Amino acid sequence: MRPVTERVANIAHFLTRNARRIGAEPAVIEGGQVTGWRTLDARVSALGLALREECGVGFGDRVLVQAVNSRACIEVQLACFRLGAVWCPCNFRLTPGEVAAQGRVAGAVAMVCGEGFAGHVAAAREAGITRVIGTEYEALIAPRLGRDLANADVARDDPCWLFFTSGSTGRPKGVVLTQGQLTFTILNHLNDLLPGLTHRDRSLVVAPLSHGAGMHALVQLAAGAASVILPGPFEPAAAWAAVERYGITNLFAVPTIVKRLVENPRAGRSSLRAIIYAGAPMYKEDQRVALERLGPVLVQYYGLGEVTGAITVLRAEDHGPAREGSCGVERTGMEVRIAGDDGRALGPGESGEVCVAGPAVCAGYWQDAAANAAAFRDGWFRTGDIGHMDAEGYLYLTGRRSDMFITGGTNVHPREVEEILLTHPDIAEVAVIGVPDRDLGEVGWAVVVVRGAGTGTGERFGDWLDGRVARFKIPRRFIMVTEIPKSGYGKVTRALVRELLQGMGEWPV
Ligand code: AMP
Repeated sequence: MRPVTERVANIAHFLTRNARRIGAEPAVIEGGQVTGWRTLDARVSALGLALREECGVGFGDRVLVQAVNSRACIEVQLACFRLGAVWCPCNFRLTPGEVAAQGRVAGAVAMVCGEGFAGHVAAAREAGITRVIGTEYEALIAPRLGRDLANADVARDDPCWLFFTSGSTGRPKGVVLTQGQLTFTILNHLNDLLPGLTHRDRSLVVAPLSHGAGMHALVQLAAGAASVILPGPFEPAAAWAAVERYGITNLFAVPTIVKRLVENPRAGRSSLRAIIYAGAPMYKEDQRVALERLGPVLVQYYGLGEVTGAITVLRAEDHGPAREGSCGVERTGMEVRIAGDDGRALGPGESGEVCVAGPAVCAGYWQDAAANAAAFRDGWFRTGDIGHMDAEGYLYLTGRRSDMFITGGTNVHPREVEEILLTHPDIAEVAVIGVPDRDLGEVGWAVVVVRGAGTGTGERFGDWLDGRVARFKIPRRFIMVTEIPKSGYGKVTRALVRELLQGMGEWPV
């Protein structure tokens, strides 16, 4: 028996509760097919039993997932929670090698894989993950339907989700999200982002469920609201058609997706009451146009995987000229500190590193003492973002401590790309840098010094990366130079690279 004070409700209990109370109401709608809460509950139990009986998944075991958004993604998530296992979803755009690396870090015992990822399965097998559920998914569920599977007894600090981020060294890090921490965060999202959410609401899933959208789906689960999943890659016209067809009331997206929705001719006032956006800065002009076309429905949050998205909120009523450029105020129960280099709190208007404390902060990185030592100081989680707060507590982000950039809402750590480029025989030196881009927020460019008499072209270097890193990480441009500037310590700094490009007249204005 666990001590009474540690015991918490399993996240999967939200599903149990919905199945009882609103069993016939829609839980997931995909390609026009509606799955009610009672059916979803039965399927999750059947899948949980299959994971246990076919793959030996038990309490605390890690389960790797590689799939595009689908009902199955949600089922695997909830089946893992029900078993007390740990859900380890990968971004479906990652290469086989990248997914295998995440599986290795997690020490995954099994993998669930959607269609079209044979290479990923092969790489995972090579990494020692031999128990894989693929095309036999439905065949494993069907004979187990109707059998009960109780939600595992869980304690507050039991891990249930490894949320992968790629560190600045390029090695993936698994952010440990726990049962109790997630319960707090779900309630926090309900309270601060979607107050009044009920089972009559409908949410449109447009971002990968392996990341922020997976958290957003859990918020819908807690309220009994249905998640509507669009098949295939994001398409604004299809999204608007779904909004109309299902009376969608909320969605979560990164700013570049919101921009594409706004620019679509079908954009206008609709059943949407909240468009929640986060993950990267949104241009002020884009915000203005969005508000004009869609009405006062924008809700911004600022967060990281490490804080499950719960650092600040800029509510709908705060959108407008007075708070332009701000990502909002502290979330309920969370505290933000702007810290100087020595960790001490700075005052209003002073610029420093954004640090955060509160129950939404993760339990650290999975088996990574070095990363934990770097990320936490005096109990504060260090975001690596630079910003300041005004006297009323509105936060303004101005930069990042690391060199990471965000393209289309997805993080890219230059070093990971640089290391692979440096394996090309013709490349002597390289620096990858994020440059501003109107459509994607930022895109990567590479500055390259070609070796000896080599005649590398950008196209060749792009081809070199294709298949070795996910497509979104491949630089858009390769600029040949004779030398890359270094700091006094012999280091390539992004500031110097930027100056070089500006001096060449190449930096976009
Ligand atoms: P991730 O862990 O992938 O969600 O990435 C977190 C990073 O995204 C943060 O450290 C910020 O640099 C950036 N980010 C998240 N939300 C916002 C926001 N509302 N405004 C600006 N940048 C953001």
